[in-house]
Amino acid sequence: MAEPTDRPASREPIDFTVETLGPCTVDSPLAPRLQARRTTQHYIEETDRVLFDDTLSKVSRREGDLEDLPSLEPTGPRKKIFFDPSKTRVGIVTCGGLCPGINNVIRGLVSELTTHYGVRRIYGFKNGYQGFVPRYGHDVVDLTPESVSGIDGEGGTILGTSRGQQDAAEVVDCLERMGISVLFVIGGDGTMRGAQKISAEIKARDLKIAVVGIPKTIDNDIPFIDQSFGFQSAFSEASRSIRSAKVEARTAPNGVSIVKLMGRHSGFIACYAALAQNDADFVLIPEVPFTLDGPGGFLQRLREKVATQGHALVVAAEGAGQELFDPADAAASLKDASGNKRLQDVGRLLRQAITDDFAAHDLELNMRYIDPSYVIRSVPANPYDAVYCIRLAHAAVHAAMAGRTNMVVGRWRRRFVHIPIALAVSDRNQVDPHGDLWWSVLEATGQPWSFGDFAAEQVTAFGGQ
Ligand code: ATP
Ligand code: MG
Repeated sequence: MAEPTDRPASREPIDFTVETLGPCTVDSPLAPRLQARRTTQHYIEETDRVLFDDTLSKVSRREGDLEDLPSLEPTGPRKKIFFDPSKTRVGIVTCGGLCPGINNVIRGLVSELTTHYGVRRIYGFKNGYQGFVPRYGHDVVDLTPESVSGIDGEGGTILGTSRGQQDAAEVVDCLERMGISVLFVIGGDGTMRGAQKISAEIKARDLKIAVVGIPKTIDNDIPFIDQSFGFQSAFSEASRSIRSAKVEARTAPNGVSIVKLMGRHSGFIACYAALAQNDADFVLIPEVPFTLDGPGGFLQRLREKVATQGHALVVAAEGAGQELFDPADAAASLKDASGNKRLQDVGRLLRQAITDDFAAHDLELNMRYIDPSYVIRSVPANPYDAVYCIRLAHAAVHAAMAGRTNMVVGRWRRRFVHIPIALAVSDRNQVDPHGDLWWSVLEATGQPWSFGDFAAEQVTAFGGQ
């Protein structure tokens, strides 16, 4: 599958340095087994790096020597590690919204830690960062290969999750009390900001506790990562809704189906689902603003489509069309428990606007509205994501055992790499409105670049990468 990242090559120097807790002096317990299998070449050389740029033109625009090229640390087992596995206690926590594959990651972590490194004490903290804070009273669960066996067949997370800020000092107090030296954090951007604060608190106390994140975002919006886990399962499931919506639309006179998909700030799921099930006539994403009314507006284009085709199918990402709402509206300032801005409901707005518009033009309308978001979030990972999750889990274990901290694992240019958390939360991966993914969507749907006032912003040359 093509890499669903539209991020243009950065020209600014980027610091990819990953923090370590100290020198690695312990022999990896993997060594004898890998040597026996004559696979010692599998070890990662500490000096090896994965290049950030993937084309000659990008590389040739850089200044300096070969070793000055921007590059990332590869994941994988090291010959020498930082922690002594027999004395290592590990914690795992999952936070934020659901995403296919979280249980696969948990199982992958537990089996790699126990089977390969011989770690014997692994604790699961319940309901996100709340699990560390005594006043919530959540139990801690022992995680063993037996207890996590089969959990990857289920969606969701066996550890539960939560939103809402927790004090990093209280989390570190708990880690200290329980003698935990490695913490794996599975979650989205907010979770990783939390992990960054926990790492800072650990450093301030001069403790040797590794914090390694496995970033979860169904929206695929983490920078420096080709694709986040669960994304493929999510858009595959979303494409089923598009197929059903198409059947609904075309079997009724003047049928109009709207499918609202996830994508608060990034329209990757809407774009990929629409391409996977090539039935959408319109795709609306947060990155491309549009207007409803007036000549060339969305409503006029929709009416034209229904007139010529007899029906129409609209796929809208939840963050699309936020510019259509009045910023002074009280609802615009609402936040969720974690402080994330609540989005206005573009689905409701579209439903109302289309109904009013068809009535104003004295046209029959058979509207179907489908919001499969919660169904999509909770599906189990598909086989592709299952493989991806387990490989991310293995990478995270190798990183943590080698004393890497304040970092996440990810895949860049199809190579597994270590990325400082600071970089992973520094920006947001978005569909480039002038890039080749959006261009493919326009080709597939036949829709213009945008509608109404924004249609004029269409670019003539698409700078795909
Ligand atoms: P997603 O948005 O994909 O559902 P997320 O990880 O961004 O996942 P949030 O609810 O924003 O979900 O955050 C999860 C947890 O991370 C919160 O419960 C909170 O404890 C912590 N957190 C969120 N934002 C911050 C922040 N800025 N600083 C410290 N901790 C944070
Ligand atoms: Mg978030």
